Amino acid sequence: MFNTLPRLSIIFLLFFTLPNANASTSLPDIGIAGAGELTIAKEKQYGWAFNLMANQSLPIIRDPILNLYIRTIGQQIVRHADSVRMPFHFLLIQDNEINAAAFLGGNIKVNTGLFLYANDESELAAVLSHEVAHITQRHLARFLEKQSFNNPATIAAMAGSILLALVAPAAGMAALTSTMALSAQSNINYTRQNEYEADRIGIRTLYKAGFDPYDMANFFEKLAEKYQYSSSPPQMLSTHPLTATRIAEARLRASQFKKRKVPMHLAFQLSKARITVRFNSITSTAAINLYTSILKRKNYASRQAAEYGLALAYFKDRKFQKANKIILTLLKKSPRNIFYIDLFSDTSLALGKQKNLIKLLTMFYDQDRKNKVITLNLIAALKSDKQYKQEEKIIARFIRDYPDNMLGRILAIEVYRKLNNRAKEHENKAELLALKGLFKNAAQEMSTALIYSNKKLNKARYGAKIEVYRQDDMRLEALQK
Ligand SMILES: [Zn+2]
Repeated sequence: MFNTLPRLSIIFLLFFTLPNANASTSLPDIGIAGAGELTIAKEKQYGWAFNLMANQSLPIIRDPILNLYIRTIGQQIVRHADSVRMPFHFLLIQDNEINAAAFLGGNIKVNTGLFLYANDESELAAVLSHEVAHITQRHLARFLEKQSFNNPATIAAMAGSILLALVAPAAGMAALTSTMALSAQSNINYTRQNEYEADRIGIRTLYKAGFDPYDMANFFEKLAEKYQYSSSPPQMLSTHPLTATRIAEARLRASQFKKRKVPMHLAFQLSKARITVRFNSITSTAAINLYTSILKRKNYASRQAAEYGLALAYFKDRKFQKANKIILTLLKKSPRNIFYIDLFSDTSLALGKQKNLIKLLTMFYDQDRKNKVITLNLIAALKSDKQYKQEEKIIARFIRDYPDNMLGRILAIEVYRKLNNRAKEHENKAELLALKGLFKNAAQEMSTALIYSNKKLNKARYGAKIEVYRQDDMRLEALQK
C-alpha cells in the first residue's frame, strides 16, 4: 500500500492488456546485454517524463510554503536512506484519498488526504519513508524488468504505457481499475513481498531520520481500524489489506530500535491547517466553526496552529481585520515564522497596506534572496502597488534561480505583458509549455519571441532553445512508444 499500488495496479492491467501474441514460454537470452535491464540512467529519463506529464495533468499544489514543507521533510528522509542513486522529487497533490505513491526516477506523489489523516509529522514521515524505500529498492524498476522476461513488449513499452495512463481521462482510468482486480490477483504475492521490504527498510530510515520507528505500525493500525467496517475503504486497502501480520511485523521491526518521544512539529500542524482551509472542500463558515470549536475545547496538538487555522478561515471568509489581528499576535511570538509572514502578507494586501508590507518583505528578501515564500510575496506586494519595474527585476532573478518553477513563469508572463515586452512574454510562455512537456507548442512560442526580439544575443539564445525543444520532444516521444 501507499505505494506503487495505484501505479502497479495500472501496470498489472496494462501488462495483461498488452498484445500477448508474442508471449513465449522460453526464457530470453540473458546473454544479450541489457535487453531486460532498466538502468538508473533510463529510470531517470522516465522520471523526467513523469514530471512533465504530472505538470500537465495532475492537480499539483503550487503553494510555496507547502512545497517547501514537503520537500524539507522528504529530503530529511532521503538523507538518511541507503542506496540513494538519484535525486528525489516530492509532489503534493490535491486529492482527499489517503494515499502516496512512488514512481520511477525518484518521484513521490503525496496526497493532501494523507496529510489530513496523519496526526503528526512522524506518521507522515513513516509513509514517505516507505515510499522512498520502494524507489531505493527499485521495486517498480525490477517489476518491469521481470515482466519483460516473458514479454518482448519491452520495458520501454510498459513504462511508456504507465505514463500514458497518467494522462488518460477519468473515464479511461475508471475502465482500467474496474478490470484490475482480476489481473492484480496473480501478482499479489510479489507486491506483498515488496510492501514488507518497503516497511522494513522504511522503518530503519524513519529511525535514522530522527522519528519514532513505531509510527509506521501506529499509522497502519489507525488506518486499518478506521476502515475495518467501512463499505468503501480506499482502493489500496481493498487490494492490499493491512493485515494483522503486517502491522505486527512493523511493530517487531520497530522494537529493534529505541522508542523515541518525538516533540510536536509545529510546521506539520501549520501545514495541516493550511491544507484544511485552503486545499480542501471546506467552506469558510465551516472552517471558522471548526477552528473556533477546536480552540474552545482545547482539542489541538498546537494552540498556535489552531489559531493560524482560524486566521486562515477568517481570511477565506474575507474578514480581513479579524484574520490580521490573530496573525499579528502570532507574529509577535514568532516574527520569523514563514507561515505567519505569508498570511500577514495576504491580509496586508487585502487591507491596502502595501507600503509597509513592501518594507518588511524587502528587509527579509535582502537577507535571503533564495527564499521562495518571501520572494513570491514581495512580487505580489509590488504588483499590487503597481511597481512593475521593480517587480520585473525580482521576477527575472527568481526565474534565473528557479527556471523550473511554473509559478515564476506565470508571473513573468504577466509582468512582461504589462511592460509590453513581447519577446520576454513569449519566451516565458514557451518555457511554461516546455515544463509541461508540450515542446512543439513551446517551439512555436519561442519562434514568436524570436520575431519580437531585437537583441542579437537573445535571438541566438532563442534559436538554441528551439533546437533543445525539438530534441526533448523526440526524447519524450521515444519514451512513450
Ligand atoms: Zn508500498
